[in-house]
Amino acid sequence: MQPLPDSYRQRGQRRALVTLLREQRGIRDERVLAAIGAVPRHLFFEPAFEAHAYQDKAFPIGEGQTISQPSTVAYQTQLLDVQAGQQILEIGTGSGYQYAVLCQLTANVQSIEFNAVLYERGRQRLATLGLPTAGLHLGDGSLGLPALAPFDGILVTAGAPALPPALLRQLRIGGRLVVPVGSHDPGQQQLLRITREGPEAFVREELGDCRFVPLRGAAGWQ
Ligand code: SAM
Repeated sequence: MQPLPDSYRQRGQRRALVTLLREQRGIRDERVLAAIGAVPRHLFFEPAFEAHAYQDKAFPIGEGQTISQPSTVAYQTQLLDVQAGQQILEIGTGSGYQYAVLCQLTANVQSIEFNAVLYERGRQRLATLGLPTAGLHLGDGSLGLPALAPFDGILVTAGAPALPPALLRQLRIGGRLVVPVGSHDPGQQQLLRITREGPEAFVREELGDCRFVPLRGAAGWQ
């Protein structure tokens, strides 16, 4: 990343956030913690709201959407178990923060955003931060990105009504899909990790209740 407005205070707040994630939110993967420590989350907020950037909270980013809370970003990233060089797909670019965290772990990250306003805003922000924008796509991520499949990891940052079949098909053997599934009513969404063990063999892990905005598109909520 390029040199950016990142004050002594903000760096201290980010270190405190990493400590919170490690000691109180159960994040154990030191590579994930280092990635969170390296990305200045305040630069993904409007300047008026920067003071909220290092709280462990989701925050509105416009268009009825949110930047996920840091512990959710860290947990989903840990579940994906990204290794250097792996090909990763994110569904729901939003502010671009999760994309920036993934880019700390591998050079091959693609991300799709459904909302044209957020796509353009995210693209400009990531370009300003000096991050690669060739991996950003405007479209329906519930259909994945068949032209660039297979993926070692697919991370969905919005809640799907059911497992999107296209995303299962686009997993490499050994690859992992991390996706919230279920209605967005309280207590009705489960975070799932699906590992593809063979062409037709998928192992499903249920990792607890969660709350995400709805996934839109062909395999999303209408
Ligand atoms: N990852 C984002 C970040 O770091 O700021 C937060 C994502 S926000 C919780 C969910 C995002 O998913 C929204 O930006 C929303 O527009 C997007 N979304 C919803 N349905 C989608 C779809 N079918 N394809 C791509 N993006 C979608």
